[in-house]
Amino acid sequence: MALVESRAVVLRTYRLGETSSIVVCYTDNFGKVRLVAKGARKGGGRLGAALEPLLVSGVVFYRREGKDLSLVSQAEVEREFPELRRDVVRMAYGSAVAELVDKLVSGEEPDPRLFGVIVGALDEIDSAPEAELDGALWRFELALARELGYTPEFGRCVLCGNDPGGDARFAPRHGGVVCDGCLATRAGVPVAGAAASAAIAALAGGEGVASGSLDAVVRDEIGDTLRDFLGEHAGRSLRLRSIDFLAQVRRMERSETEPDQHDED
Ligand SMILES: [Zn+2]
Repeated sequence: MALVESRAVVLRTYRLGETSSIVVCYTDNFGKVRLVAKGARKGGGRLGAALEPLLVSGVVFYRREGKDLSLVSQAEVEREFPELRRDVVRMAYGSAVAELVDKLVSGEEPDPRLFGVIVGALDEIDSAPEAELDGALWRFELALARELGYTPEFGRCVLCGNDPGGDARFAPRHGGVVCDGCLATRAGVPVAGAAASAAIAALAGGEGVASGSLDAVVRDEIGDTLRDFLGEHAGRSLRLRSIDFLAQVRRMERSETEPDQHDED
């Protein structure tokens, strides 16, 4: 058993007994770890305040190689994202980042670059204009895919290997684009529409995509497609509570701005 320290992004917490918590973190030195924080849920404690979801904290813990849980000794907030924590919509985007890391990353393999990608995404969600939050999440999803070793293929058709041409469609279950020829002959390969495919290709190529200027249907399609793509690699469908919540918020916003639509129908 060794006393170690690391920076950590808190992904989620569970209650443990009356006053303690289990805190799931992504750390820069040890990858994903599960920490026991004794007394963290007693009011007013510094430990509990530093181990709330979506904070970056410096943590000191007793690491036991091969054991699932480690005991926290100290934790101190290093970085908080004030807008993200104040605004329920930004909080939902931040929670999507945490949920994706929790679901897709396993084991204690340190990956400081992934740590940087996670903190960078939270930083962007904290500061970007609200209309661009989708774009921030999509960029994070593609960066996460790269870090996990499943970079999507855009250079050639994933079915025939040929040059996909300019209008290739993204097939999330196949991890890349499908050319026109294959699309015509192989019905039943699920692909994203032309606008969503073009946006995903641009995002993956590092080009800026203004998510706020895209049609709402295309935006939803890009999000669903990227989650299908990540889920395919994870071997299960990725239903994120935070994304369900955002969909609910959007439906309410739409019904607020179009109050008479149902009457006209
Ligand atoms: Zn093809």
